[in-house]
Amino acid sequence: MGEDVETLKRRTPLLDYLRQHNWTGHPASRCEFVGLCPLHEESRPSFYVNTRKDVFYCHGCGQGGDLIRFVQLSRGLSFHQSLACLDPEITSEADSSAVLEEAAAFYQQQLDRCPEALDYLHRRGVHDLALFRELGIGYAPGGTLRRYLTVQGHSFDVLQRLGLINARGADALYQRIVFPLQQGERIVNLYGRSIGSAFAHRFLPGSKGGLYAWEKVRNCSEVILVEGLFDYAVLRQAGFSNVTCSLGTHLNDTQFGQLCEGQRTVYVTFDVDENQSGQQAAEQLAQRLVVHGISARHVLLPEGHDPNSFFVQGGNAHQFQSLLEAAQP
Ligand SMILES: [Zn+2]
Repeated sequence: MGEDVETLKRRTPLLDYLRQHNWTGHPASRCEFVGLCPLHEESRPSFYVNTRKDVFYCHGCGQGGDLIRFVQLSRGLSFHQSLACLDPEITSEADSSAVLEEAAAFYQQQLDRCPEALDYLHRRGVHDLALFRELGIGYAPGGTLRRYLTVQGHSFDVLQRLGLINARGADALYQRIVFPLQQGERIVNLYGRSIGSAFAHRFLPGSKGGLYAWEKVRNCSEVILVEGLFDYAVLRQAGFSNVTCSLGTHLNDTQFGQLCEGQRTVYVTFDVDENQSGQQAAEQLAQRLVVHGISARHVLLPEGHDPNSFFVQGGNAHQFQSLLEAAQP
């Protein structure tokens, strides 16, 4: 971080930044300029910029510092926000999130217009409209997003870099139920579940972010961890509010770190599949959690089930609660 800050400051000397923002300064000495202070009202210049040290000082309001400090003061931003505002790479991350936001909103609008998508959700046991809205569930019919986002003014390059369209210019998500994945307030990725015969799971390139909807459960002393978003959705619908999802059985470092943030019990509820891979992953995760001082229980669903199929095939909240109570460390 320190190195990045130095690079950023070298790239944009304070005096250049001020001039780009319409500050006028007159030479005061060999490496000093003086002008009216942009940070307080004044009629006689008392704002000095030292070009050798690349810092400013105002004799009127007593403020001083480097470029980042100036951006903080003049725009009322935090240190990190100021960096983001100065660094085009960080800024482009914020832009990416804005484009993903528009894509997700577009997909949400499509959901109501596509009976095949609503049918699929109903078959997977997901029918609560309020939950659709809360999770921002949408549908990508394919062949329509590129045109929409282009009309909104986004370039082919940006859409391709985000992975929303492929090299041939076609929408990357095609006939898929879409869940936006957020980190904090920002959308960092989109998950698409095929409703047809295509490969079931798809993400855009880039990070999946942390655990799904972690903000809602981070203070819970008991957390149910599932591997799929349809598992998540049916559990939420059944009234379990302390659920989160790792989007697969392999947790990234961010996700694992989140589970270890505080004292809690994690109910690991992965698929019980024929080849036992879900069960092995659940056991390994439980062991790793215990090493980190987190209490872990391994929830055993009936053979061949995941939480989604458990509810779709008639299981209810009371029965699932019994499974949680029977879960072994
Ligand atoms: Zn001042």
